[in-house]
This record gives sequence, structure tokens and C-alpha cells, in this order.
Amino acid sequence: SMAPSALPLCEHTLKSSFTVPRRYLFGPGPSNVPPRILTAGSQPMLGHLHAETIEIMDHIKSGIQYAFQTQNRMTLAVSGPGHAAMECAIFNSVECGDSVLIAVNGIWGERAAEIAERIGAKVNKIVTSAGSYFRNDEIEQALSKYKPVLFFLTHGESSTGVVHPIDGIGELCHRYNCLFLVDSVAALGGSPIYMDKQDIDIMYTGSQKVLNVPPGTAPISFSERACCRIFSRKTKPVSYFLDLSWLANYWGCDRKSARAYHHTGPVTALYSLREGLAILAETGLENSWKRHKDVAAYFHEGLERIGLKPFVEDKKARLPTVTTIVAPPGYDWREITGYIMKNHNIEISGGLGPSVGMVLRVGLMGCNSNKPYVDMILEALTDALKHCHKSKV
Ligand code: PMP
Repeated sequence: SMAPSALPLCEHTLKSSFTVPRRYLFGPGPSNVPPRILTAGSQPMLGHLHAETIEIMDHIKSGIQYAFQTQNRMTLAVSGPGHAAMECAIFNSVECGDSVLIAVNGIWGERAAEIAERIGAKVNKIVTSAGSYFRNDEIEQALSKYKPVLFFLTHGESSTGVVHPIDGIGELCHRYNCLFLVDSVAALGGSPIYMDKQDIDIMYTGSQKVLNVPPGTAPISFSERACCRIFSRKTKPVSYFLDLSWLANYWGCDRKSARAYHHTGPVTALYSLREGLAILAETGLENSWKRHKDVAAYFHEGLERIGLKPFVEDKKARLPTVTTIVAPPGYDWREITGYIMKNHNIEISGGLGPSVGMVLRVGLMGCNSNKPYVDMILEALTDALKHCHKSKV
């Protein structure tokens, strides 16, 4: 008997070749990928446990150790976006019923709180308004009140454009027997952070921001203190895929000689990640931090010149990678972002979470952080303000 015929393809969409436009990605991410990284990612496929792949993974580990300024043995890249690293951090370090403390000054704290709630943690929050940040004494008060096992803080709040001070917080956490978890997805490489020196226990970032690597891999690192807690937990983490015992073995962090199959990592994405980390190392962290800071300051001056206002008033709290601009009064922000996309081939974005409707957001990350691009954006914004509708009221 004949096999039943397959259903036909329902559209013609797959039958022609496709191209995508070049576009300036000046939103909060992903950022543009330079040719060197694209080329790295188009090399031939290898097995995910072949010797050459393992060597690339080892190079990635040392690149992450440099970028994070850590000597943690437990350093690896999660197969997935920033959210996978968020879940990896929280799923492994928190058990059902544990008390956690989340600093919420934008959407990333809100999301971390929801992730912890989903695994049955007792979630306590400290909350402050969009555009501001926490003082260490406020954090200490909450640590002593809630006695959490984990404190979550966002280094670069991409929804509000705030870079959070980090000094002294890790020490406070440890005094209260709590792990310090930092989300540096939007800031790492663009704003100083020293994982070891600043007593951070768990930190992660994404590939698609300052590193200029396509989305899909997320560097993460765990201190010895974090590992002690994670490897002495009573219950297994809810996620098999993100279980740190498995990931530690896959990344050769567990002192076992053989790596066992856990999942098939994104091999070619790892080539790209290796190259992104190599470029950051060649540039040098200090140079990268300084360039992001200088370019952001140049951008902020330019904004004032064309009559726009940075959303974060406190200059030292402005995130150098993602700038928030007060949504110009009288305009529809959607019309502005749409106009700039259509007429200038530039992506910028509106607000997110607590900043929706309040801001425009412009990301200048990695290779996109340069003054000629700032001039381009200022020109595009000036043009949009001239041509978009302004209400009379
Ligand atoms: N945290 C922060 C601070 C971010 O800016 C982002 C991405 N915008 C994420 C987490 C989540 O990363 P992803 O979109 O890669 O899951």
C-alpha cells in the first residue's frame, strides 16, 4: 500500500529566496553584528562535544572570566537568551519555600520576581520608581527584615535607563547569609563591574548587547559560595535543561574528566560568542567602558541641544549603553519610532514595563557606540520632531 501523500505547503512563501535589509539597530537590543563575528558564525558545523568545540568552549570560559572580572571555576554560557540565564540563576539557587528579595526599579526585577514566584519561593520586593535606584541602607533594612537566601539586583535597567551602584551590596548580602545575584545583560562591557571584587555570587549577561553577538547564548558565572549552596540543596531544580550539575559537566567545570551528553549546544552560536568575547578582550574592558561613557555623554549633550530631555536626571545614574529620553510632550511616541524606522532605517524603541509611554529608548552598544552614530540619531530625531504630528494642547 502506498504511503498517504503529504499535505502541500499552504503558501508560496518558502519557494523563493529571501534577503533581509541592513538596518541600524539602535534599540535596547539586539545590536548590530560586525562582519568578523558573522564570519566566525558561518564556519562549518562540528559536533557539540568534538575536541575543537570543547577548546572553543574553554576559550569562551576564559573570555567570560575576563569580561566578568572573576576567577570563578563555575563559568559557562547557557544555551538560550538572557531569560534562560535568569531562570538558570534563580532555579538553581532557590528552592520552593525559600525567601528571596528582589529589587524592582524596572521590568527586570518584576520578571525575576515572577520567575521566583513560579517555583514557589516567598518573594519579597523593594520597589522604587522608574528612573531611580536603591541606597545600600534600604537594601540592608530589607535583608534584615526578610532574611532571604538570594537578593536580585539589575545592574543596567534597560527599561528605565538606570545603571545601579554595586559597591558594598555583596558584602551586606554576605553579612546576612544571602547570595547576591546581578543581572548585567544590558550593561556588561559598557559599564564597570567586577564580579569578584564586588562580592557578586551569581551574574549573567546576554550575547546580543555590548558583545554584538547574535541572540541565543548567555554567559553566566557562580561563586564558590553560590556553588556550595546550589550543590547542597535538598530538592532538584525544576528544570532539567538548566540544572547546574548538568551544565557544569557539559562545560567542564566539575572536575570530572569526561563530558556527558546533556543537550546539543548551539555550536555555531558559540563560534560567534567566542569572537565577540575576543573583540572585547582586544579592545580592553577599560577602553570599552570609557568609550560607552564618552559616547553616551556626547549623546546626552546633543539631546539637550535639540530640545529633548534625558529621562534619568542624576547624570551618574545614566546607563551608558541604553539611554532613556523623556517622551516628547504632545507627540505620539509610536509615530516617532515608526517615522525613524521608515525614513532613516534606524530602530529605536519606546518604553517597556513601567516606562511605557514615558520614554524613548536608544541603545548604543559595542560597535554601535560611536559618535558618528550619535550624530545620525540626533539628525533622525530632529527630523522626526519636525515631521511627526504635534497636538495643539
Ligand atoms: N535583563 C536585562 C537587563 C535586559 O535588558 C534583557 C534584554 N532586554 C534581559 C534581561 C533579557 O534578555 P533576553 O531578551 O535575551 O532574554
